[in-house]
Amino acid sequence: MRTCIVWLRNDLRLRDNPALYQAAREFDEVVPVFIWAPEEERAWKPGGAQCWWLHHSLHSLKQDLESKGSRLIIRSGEGAPTLTALAEETGATSVFWNRRHVPALDTRDANIAEELERLNIETGSFEGRLLHDPDAIETTSGGPYHVYTPFWRKFNKLLDETLAATPPLPAADLKDRAPASWPESSAISALGLLPEARDGTDWAAGLRRMWTPGEEAGHTRLAHFLDELLNDYDTARDRPDLDGTSRLSPYLHHGELSPRQVWNAVQETSNGSLGEGAETFLKEIVWREFSYHLLHHYPETTTNPLKDKFANFPWEEDADALARWQQGRTGYPIIDAGMRQLYEVGWMHNRVRMIVASFLTKDLLIPWQHGARWFWDTLVDGDLASNTMGWQWAAGCGADAQPFFRIFNPVTQGQRHDPDGAYVKRYVPELADLPVEHLHAPWEAPAEVLRNANVKLGDTYPEPVVDHSEAREQALEAYERIK
Ligand code: FAD
Repeated sequence: MRTCIVWLRNDLRLRDNPALYQAAREFDEVVPVFIWAPEEERAWKPGGAQCWWLHHSLHSLKQDLESKGSRLIIRSGEGAPTLTALAEETGATSVFWNRRHVPALDTRDANIAEELERLNIETGSFEGRLLHDPDAIETTSGGPYHVYTPFWRKFNKLLDETLAATPPLPAADLKDRAPASWPESSAISALGLLPEARDGTDWAAGLRRMWTPGEEAGHTRLAHFLDELLNDYDTARDRPDLDGTSRLSPYLHHGELSPRQVWNAVQETSNGSLGEGAETFLKEIVWREFSYHLLHHYPETTTNPLKDKFANFPWEEDADALARWQQGRTGYPIIDAGMRQLYEVGWMHNRVRMIVASFLTKDLLIPWQHGARWFWDTLVDGDLASNTMGWQWAAGCGADAQPFFRIFNPVTQGQRHDPDGAYVKRYVPELADLPVEHLHAPWEAPAEVLRNANVKLGDTYPEPVVDHSEAREQALEAYERIK
């Protein structure tokens, strides 16, 4: 009997899972395992919302595996000794996994592979997370790209060499692949992934309302997006008040869907002729690839600015302003709606992510790293590559970034992207009775309008934490010092 361990990480799916698929083809026995490894916590421990998702996604995967006559073995401990012990218990001669493309974890995986191979255990690593190896796309002079559009062009040119060019794999055939006896497994609940109540409130209630983690739910959402939203994606995607984007990010992050499945499904739906909506959407999928390309080449950018001159930027530490931003109490309705959406449902619309990140770094001059950490802890899709790129983009210090001197005005952004005020009213209910012409700048509303809407500034809703025009001037002065 030949036995293979499949080490599942953020590829929590049966379909289009190259490591699992190959193991089931090549071996008599397949032992799927998930390891909660402390060395991963040393890198970037998944935040609270990600852990909530992971808990439910593991349950879903366990059920899916059991319905195929297999199991999900759960272990905690350092990767190398845990895998070695499991190989001894099961008699496995091979360990397969899909690559993660997070530099610290890739190094860890390479060390584990060396250690296992010293013990005569073969290892195999597969591509399932990205459409293209982030190392394999190069500029004509041989280096990494720093600008998205040429990256996209090159990506398109290489399309036939990417994972996108081949159809997704079917579900691994696990029939008759159970080992003669299963090794011990911990309970998923023993990993302690569910959040404790914060300030006595059930923090996860909003997450449960909005999301259903798991592979099946990911496909359901994908089908809904393709049927109902894809055609209008190019126009609706900038409206946080609408259900206009795919909301696939947590499924892609946890690997319940693969980018190849999403890419191919869009192509199939479009039947060979991509409309504006489909083309714009696929470009977003390539932004995800671009973020991994940057992380691969610049692993230090999770904490350091890509543009060196920003190392001397005169950021300000202001714990009170940071807390007001985190809690959605800045007095700017579009900012507060976004931050409350994030806390309530673990996700924020992309346009609003850009606006709140600009506000933190430019209006409040708070280091972008504080914002990235808060997002990391509260997003169900918290992803080291995309989050790092998003924050560096907003702060002006990253690749292809919004120039620092382009500072979003939170009032006009609100008016433009939430024209009926439905988004603000949903997440900032204390402003629900304000007429829309005053909704995005309540401090400018006449006293009578505020009274009629039961709004008392400084009491029922905060005064603005800063004056945007003054804050803008200060930000530009700060930028002058490093220009
Ligand atoms: P859609 O608009 O439907 O896009 C489809 C998919 O394309 C997304 O699911 C995502 O995988 C990818 N994508 C879209 N936009 C981007 C982008 N700008 N960069 C990289 N990939 C993109 N995305 C994350 O997945 N995790 C993060 O931690 C994250 N942090 C961000 C932080 C900031 C400050 C900013 C400005 C953006 C961040 N993004 C992050 C990117 C983007 O906001 C989300 O991917 C998107 O909002 C997810 O919603 P969706 O699935 O409906 O996106």
